[in-house]
Amino acid sequence: MNPVGAYTEMAKKTIADVDVRGKKVLMRCDFNVPLDDECNITSDDRIVKALPTIRSILDRGGALILMSHLGRPKGQRDDKLSLAPVAKRLSELLGQDVVFSEDCIGPKTKAKAQALKNGDCMLLENLRFYKEETIKDKAAKEDAQLRQAKDDFAQQLADMADVYVDDAFGTAHRDNASMYTVPTVMEGKPRVIGFLIEKELKFLGQILSEPDRPFVAILGGAKVSDKIGVIENLVSKVDRIIIGGAMAYTFLKGRGKNIGNSLCENDFIDKALALLDQAAEADCEVVLPVDHRVVRELKPHAPHRVAVGDVDPGWQAVDIGPLAVKAFTDKIAGAKTVVWNGPMGVFEMPPFDEGTKEVALAVAKATDDGAGTIIGGGDSASAVKKLGLESKITHISTGGGASLEFLEGKKFKCLAILDEEE
Ligand code: AMP
Repeated sequence: MNPVGAYTEMAKKTIADVDVRGKKVLMRCDFNVPLDDECNITSDDRIVKALPTIRSILDRGGALILMSHLGRPKGQRDDKLSLAPVAKRLSELLGQDVVFSEDCIGPKTKAKAQALKNGDCMLLENLRFYKEETIKDKAAKEDAQLRQAKDDFAQQLADMADVYVDDAFGTAHRDNASMYTVPTVMEGKPRVIGFLIEKELKFLGQILSEPDRPFVAILGGAKVSDKIGVIENLVSKVDRIIIGGAMAYTFLKGRGKNIGNSLCENDFIDKALALLDQAAEADCEVVLPVDHRVVRELKPHAPHRVAVGDVDPGWQAVDIGPLAVKAFTDKIAGAKTVVWNGPMGVFEMPPFDEGTKEVALAVAKATDDGAGTIIGGGDSASAVKKLGLESKITHISTGGGASLEFLEGKKFKCLAILDEEE
């Protein structure tokens, strides 16, 4: 059984459970790859990660229709955001032709889909060239025209296939047409998850349902407001929450510290204090930075110094200080489960990446010492990759926003409707 069941109350069928031979399989991927100004793919990581599911379908004689979004074209064709380069790269990686459909719906696309033979692979053009893809279900419920438009778009995609597979964890927290409406209208046909989502659910689900202890969460990044839900959900589950990055200063100001010009969300100070109370009640230790690397002006290689305790007026904290690094890494050592989301400082601007680097090394060391470690995508994932520590982390999530919502304990409706194991 897929161990996610215990946390998400569902054990999902995977593509391995479906006999795909002779079937048209419609698969939602996350091919939202980074492109340079000439539309060259600068990292094919997301394509590579989809290969196990793709190969499994092709090798077993399924005819595969892949769909994805790329960037934010706002419902209009934008050649700079075409998925054509992805089709080319995928074809190289698979060692076989990948048919590229210059539209994702319409009669020509349907004809191309019908012509696919067992083992053939086709990629549809960017779904977000149609505004229907991103119409939110809430809006569709309130507006019959939007509902109709979203349903029609989804029906055209669904009509091409016998089987639906979702392997796009990066958008799994959304209710896009391709993620939610397509499987809804395909009721009665197999609708399953791919191996990438299976892996995400396994690690994220397992960790939250049955963590080995001590269980330590490390949170950082810009805003407390983005992570309130995560903290609220985690205080009752983890033994310790380490808070760094700009978000720490809202907590510190609430505790009466001077924070100078450091980023702070004044509107959330009360909420931050309430979270600290909630943590105390739940016996969850909260660790905040005791010192800070501070600058007068945030720019590369700005003169900086360390402030212990308070930050003086005119100075801004841009990274955790050496005492905080020591305290944080000591608190990570010995953990048996670690979840990390968000950098400890302005890590894009060395030397203010020091705190994030040290935390990354401590998490990697914890893995070496037998802990299960999870990085929740986004900036902390980039930091770990930049340091070449990827292989030292148990699981790096492919979805920053999705993994955060998972840690908030939210249910993903587009996964909830997919088939469950009997
Ligand atoms: P998030 O998207 O919420 O994970 O935030 C990531 C961003 O937070 C990165 O761009 C960091 O540069 C920024 N950040 C982290 N710590 C600080 C800080 N102390 N001051 C300003 N920005 C920060």
